[in-house]
Amino acid sequence: MYMDKLKLEGRVAVVTGGGRGIGLAIAEALAEAGARLVLLDREDDVLEAGRAALSAKGRDVTCIVADVTKPEDIQSAADRVAADHGAIDILVANAGIGRAPTAAEEISDADWLAVNDVNLNGVFWCDRAFGRHMLAQRRGAIVNIGSMSGLIVNRPQGQSHYNASKAAVHHLTKSLAAEWADRGVRVNAVAPTYIETPLIAHAEASGLADIWRRDTPMHRFGQPHEVASVVHFLASDAASLVTGAVVPVDGGFTCW
Ligand code: NDP
Repeated sequence: MYMDKLKLEGRVAVVTGGGRGIGLAIAEALAEAGARLVLLDREDDVLEAGRAALSAKGRDVTCIVADVTKPEDIQSAADRVAADHGAIDILVANAGIGRAPTAAEEISDADWLAVNDVNLNGVFWCDRAFGRHMLAQRRGAIVNIGSMSGLIVNRPQGQSHYNASKAAVHHLTKSLAAEWADRGVRVNAVAPTYIETPLIAHAEASGLADIWRRDTPMHRFGQPHEVASVVHFLASDAASLVTGAVVPVDGGFTCW
């Protein structure tokens, strides 16, 4: 009974930013559990690389090129997935961006707007568009990818645009969870620590990586698959009573 709850056979799952990094690992985890995967990303070549990586493991996926900052395009994508697949069971709103560390007083208007447009607005456009179909079906599970940066302030680097965007994602998650809880749609978030992907590739050379590892009780970064397994749980019936949760996946970082 308990292992069955983790199975996702026949479920339709959409992963934004699913062509690489954490999103690709999440796609792999959900596909391994039996879900029918739809990857959404803004670059065709990134999507194709993701599709090739999953195909090599015997997973068949559908790809959609779309930009999460364009609400009309996201609504069209959601309508198309619902029409083509008959339902949308799982959405993982994972697409997100960072910017080079910058002191708050030096952050440009353009960087502030870009980070919040993808990380906050993009998550809302996706949750709203795919959520509309889930509400109509009276079932669905949404997992937003937040960050420990929405729970603590990273040090020593300045990244207030990123931190604010992720804190907003966490509270958006709770707000949607509360509104949709009695209509069959669960909404949760995960809050990862530093995960080894291109997003933080700059940190080794700059020396930041050593500071971050020192500040982590486990003294290491995470791997994409360690985020993916928590997302899999939250997306599955094993988490049937869980909604509005923000789950740290952080090697203990937020304990200190
Ligand atoms: P990556 O940069 O490796 O992957 C993010 C993917 O999202 C890329 O394929 C990117 O495409 C895509 N994307 C970005 N903007 C858009 C957009 N406007 N529309 C559609 N797709 C878009 O990042 P990670 O895998 O590291 O990060 C995934 C999520 O996890 C993000 O939300 C991030 O903030 C979060 N996170 C990451 C941590 C880390 O340490 N890596 C820690 C905590 C949270 P493109 O190549 O075109 O940019």
